[in-house]
Amino acid sequence: MDKIKMMTPIVEMDGDEMTRILWQWIKDILIIPYVDLKTEYYDLGLEKRNETNDQITIDSAEAAKKYGVAVKCATITPNAARMDEYNLKEMWKSPNGTIRAILDGTVFRTPILVKGITPYIPTWTAPITIARHAYGDVYKNVEMRAIGGGKAELVFTGRDGSEQRETIFNFEGDGIIQGLYNTDKSISGFARSCFNFAVDTKQDLWFATKDTISKKYDHRFKDIFAEIFEAEYKDKFDALGIEYFYTLIDDAVARVIRSKGGYIWACKNYDGDVMSDMVSTAFGSLAMMTSVLVSPDGKYEYEAAHGTVQRHYYKHLKGEETSTNSVATIFAWSGAFRKRGELDGLTDLVKYADALEKATISTIEDGIMTGDLYLLSSLPNKKKVNSREFLLAIDERLKKCLHK
Ligand code: NAP
Ligand code: MG
Repeated sequence: MDKIKMMTPIVEMDGDEMTRILWQWIKDILIIPYVDLKTEYYDLGLEKRNETNDQITIDSAEAAKKYGVAVKCATITPNAARMDEYNLKEMWKSPNGTIRAILDGTVFRTPILVKGITPYIPTWTAPITIARHAYGDVYKNVEMRAIGGGKAELVFTGRDGSEQRETIFNFEGDGIIQGLYNTDKSISGFARSCFNFAVDTKQDLWFATKDTISKKYDHRFKDIFAEIFEAEYKDKFDALGIEYFYTLIDDAVARVIRSKGGYIWACKNYDGDVMSDMVSTAFGSLAMMTSVLVSPDGKYEYEAAHGTVQRHYYKHLKGEETSTNSVATIFAWSGAFRKRGELDGLTDLVKYADALEKATISTIEDGIMTGDLYLLSSLPNKKKVNSREFLLAIDERLKKCLHK
């Protein structure tokens, strides 16, 4: 069989620990035998980040901007323990944070559904995608303790020297104060990323805030979404028969629980942080969750939602067998191939991406799975395999899918 051709390279961002091991095996077993793989390779492993003073992360994000499609392996975000373990010059920032800041994107997380793993909410028969605005609000707050009573004020000094001033509270005794911000630019980018993703995946988009209580701050989010939708997306949505739907966050939570799934739920930064944990847990497993960062100008970075699975890596280093789930990492690759194929008009590459996902799901539905899923699956004939055996079982099915 001739290998499937590519045109534009995918930006490949390698990572750390167990996921770095899986990364190489996925390439060797499931990709390179079938695809004439073209990537621009960036090693975001912690050693390389340290060696390059993290320049490699910035370069990889710039490359993602240039080429439009990237795939990223999970990476270590250093903490005090990693400073010693890797003898780091500095506690380098989270690569995801750096890449997000450069691409200015929204993160979309979607569970991968398989037979035998039933969501905790029995009515959820289609995936719910959470779109999290990953900028500002409480993550960039300024906060203080107000001790001993006094007056807290909110002051904005305009470039022209003009001043807006509001009393927040007159404290009788001790208390706390917090200041938040966001920008129209970032909120607009968030809105466009969500509308584009809805059009791309032909799903309804829900958005919710607390605008009845937050009449200026949250209301601004609601207004920006509404304005951009009317001006730029309404016709596209109508043509596809999909809907944009705004409601209060309380109402959204209730509707999500009662829903069948099959839509995108756009959330402000904090809501998205919290709700994505709820949704992913309710669907079964973080190892079965895809994640893609979409920039407002349509650049895509695919990754797995989980971390580097450190505990399994130490077992692997000791020569012990591991049973680590590679599904989310495989879907990061298939997502990148599909998008690259669509952008370059390469039908075979899109078909390969579909086949890779189909083979992965049918492996699990045939009862062959890694330990994490083995614990959750209700299939009667289930069998636990090790990390490599799982990939080989997928390959058997991939061969059949591609030869059809
Ligand atoms: P983690 O790597 O997601 O793993 C936490 C636990 O979840 C694992 O010990 C394992 O449980 C289970 N698990 C996660 N993914 C799995 C998979 N694919 N297959 C099987 N089990 C899986 O999170 P962490 O241990 O908190 O973080 C490890 C490192 O990852 C940290 O250095 C952190 O900075 C980094 N991290 C990176 C990203 C990213 O790059 N996107 C995201 C999160 C964390 P058992 O041990 O019980 O089997
Ligand atoms: Mg969280």
